[in-house]
Amino acid sequence: MADAPSTEGIDIDGLRRKYREERDRRLGGNRAELPELVGPLARYADDPHSPPVSRDPRNDRVDVIIVGAGLGGLLIGAELRQAGVEKIRLIDAAGDVGGVWYWNRYPGARCDVESLIYMPLLEEVGTLPTEKYARATEIMAHAQGIAKRYGLYEEALFQTSVEGMEWDDAATEWVTRTDRGDEIRSQFVILANGPLTKIKLPAVDGIETFRGKAFHTSRWDYAYTGGSSETDLPNLADKVVGVVGTGATGLQCIPPLARSAKQLIVFQRTPSTVSPRNNHVLDRDWLASLEPGWQAKRMQNFIDVMYGGNATEDLVNDGWTDVWRDLFVNPAFKTMTPLEVEAAKEVADAIRMEQVRARVDAIVKDPVVAESLKPYYAFICKRPGFSDEYLEVFNRPNVTLVDTRGKGLESVTPEGVMANGQLYELDCLIFATGFEANEAGSSFNRRIGFDVLGRDQVSLSAKWASGLSTLHGLTTAKFPNMIVQSATSAQNTEPANFMHALQENARHMAYIIGETRRRGARVFETTEAAEAAWVQTILDHAVDDTAFLEACTPGRRNNEGRIGVRMQANRNYGGGPLEFYAILDSWRAEGTLPGIALT
Ligand code: NAP
Repeated sequence: MADAPSTEGIDIDGLRRKYREERDRRLGGNRAELPELVGPLARYADDPHSPPVSRDPRNDRVDVIIVGAGLGGLLIGAELRQAGVEKIRLIDAAGDVGGVWYWNRYPGARCDVESLIYMPLLEEVGTLPTEKYARATEIMAHAQGIAKRYGLYEEALFQTSVEGMEWDDAATEWVTRTDRGDEIRSQFVILANGPLTKIKLPAVDGIETFRGKAFHTSRWDYAYTGGSSETDLPNLADKVVGVVGTGATGLQCIPPLARSAKQLIVFQRTPSTVSPRNNHVLDRDWLASLEPGWQAKRMQNFIDVMYGGNATEDLVNDGWTDVWRDLFVNPAFKTMTPLEVEAAKEVADAIRMEQVRARVDAIVKDPVVAESLKPYYAFICKRPGFSDEYLEVFNRPNVTLVDTRGKGLESVTPEGVMANGQLYELDCLIFATGFEANEAGSSFNRRIGFDVLGRDQVSLSAKWASGLSTLHGLTTAKFPNMIVQSATSAQNTEPANFMHALQENARHMAYIIGETRRRGARVFETTEAAEAAWVQTILDHAVDDTAFLEACTPGRRNNEGRIGVRMQANRNYGGGPLEFYAILDSWRAEGTLPGIALT
């Protein structure tokens, strides 16, 4: 038996009690409600980045339609191009490629996974990031570089939203209709809509009554604030600004807001963990010395380190790998019984969280404010945050933290925001409140904004209403020649570097389409049997983390604290990304497209 883990003087029972109290304070309320952006709220989705362009409707035919020109769609486009597919049409509501990087231009926006593994196809496109965590502008420029390199602008339709897709069985092709009056036929369709596209505003009364300026962080209004995503915001110098939300976006936009506004009021519902970021400029000589093939190796090394693969060194060596090694893949766990591992993980988590809380005390001078900024939940209940600027902000005389102690805003009035029974008058109100990304709270079709009619007029929303059923999270029976770039990432995998999953999926999709064509077939379709078997595999490998999730503070991971309505089949493959990619690799290696019928 291995040694019992040292608790290093931490009162585990006391912490459990405190975590429970904090969780209970946050359960219920209106946090799971998702207001529709209609009527007076519709303007929150308007595009401030590109002027509207008019064009005639298109009635033509292409080989593949890719809905979504974010990095997920671009990766598929690049793979398809290399597989010899000619007419590839990206369709996106945005005015350009880039997806989340098109929309999220808020000040301070950067990737939070190392740019060398997050920005895909760096070697192929011939660009290199300047910093370990690159700015949004650089990532957006790289997305444009991918589109140019693979000729994906040629057929693209921007400022265009798909309204419906239908399988025409007689013609064996898809018919896609858009809000521009287009009716486009294609042999294949790919849904690469992305998980972070539908804006989430707080479900409180009165948002439409606010008389000042208000916007969501993904629609930043630089005409109002001045400045750019890389600078401070000079027009806010005489403004009282309120910002709601302290997730990854809040952590990045609050420091420049604090430097710029006359007064900044931060409305916090749950504090994030804020670990050191240690961003730095990348050494050009070192970059130049990297051997060809370095990016794939680095991406693989990252998941090997994080998910227990064979890594002899940690190339990325940042907050992610540090925490994962410590909390999840500690070699010491191998010599312990399952119960011991569970106990050891709880202790390791408690030690890590004590460090996170101690960092708040070390940086924030006012002890009351510091206490409010301390997260009391297990580290992985929420997506970890990293910043070397965020906590420092709360020492500034022009910044006020309004700790709503889990309750969030009460309402918005014409003058400002009501929270903790008090009105905070504001000139400007910024929602850093994220996107609809819940598994059960936001169904796939609600999120993508249209339905898809497959063979025999079966609708995708009806098919998936009681839970997803797919092969590898990518294809589904009755929807021939259609691939979904991981439907809400479910039945697939979601590593910390989401780009890695998008790239592996893109490779797999291009293989399916390429093989369909190479074998002289017109149509591929997943069989019901293969789909049922994959759903069973998901269920068989589902890690029973119900107790852990129940103990977590409400958030995306535990469906805002409503564990009961979690649908087991909607989960990711429980064996983790390394095993999942091995499954995809060996499926392709079989060479027979098992579970997919070609006609
Ligand atoms: P988020 O993680 O969903 O955070 C939303 C924030 O708004 C939370 O602090 C939430 O509080 C708060 N909130 C929501 N409704 C509220 C209400 N009614 N009253 C008060 N507070 C309220 O959204 P996000 O920060 O935009 O991040 C979205 C996703 O994008 C995440 O997956 C994130 O990791 C990713 N992201 C990545 C980067 C990057 O660098 N790569 C940057 C930004 C975002 P609760 O915690 O209590 O729910």
